[in-house]
Amino acid sequence: MSFEELDKEQWEAICEQCGLCCFEKIEDERGRIFFTSTPCRYLDIETRQCKIYEKRFKICPECVQLTPELVQDLKWLHRSCGYKKALRRQKEE
Ligand code: SF4
Ligand code: SF4
Repeated sequence: MSFEELDKEQWEAICEQCGLCCFEKIEDERGRIFFTSTPCRYLDIETRQCKIYEKRFKICPECVQLTPELVQDLKWLHRSCGYKKALRRQKEE
């Protein structure tokens, strides 16, 4: 099933709640991405859960709503992110 066919619940279920996307990233002048160990201030680093999940886009302007298009384009989404893995699986099919 392609990303576009998924409903909201199915889409959200792809997230493995690793919290990796909620750590600051740095991009150098050559476009390389480096992951830092600095978490978003709203990330509970024990559980890796967002402490403001339902209101995150209102409260945290830097927080990004992942969409099928963004998952393809975003360089800073970690290779081990559930969405990136699902995308690779889709391309292999
Ligand atoms: S606000 Fe966004 S970036 Fe920050 S912890 Fe929550 S989901 Fe992650
Ligand atoms: S990196 Fe991907 S799988 Fe991990 S929390 Fe973020 S969106 Fe979910």
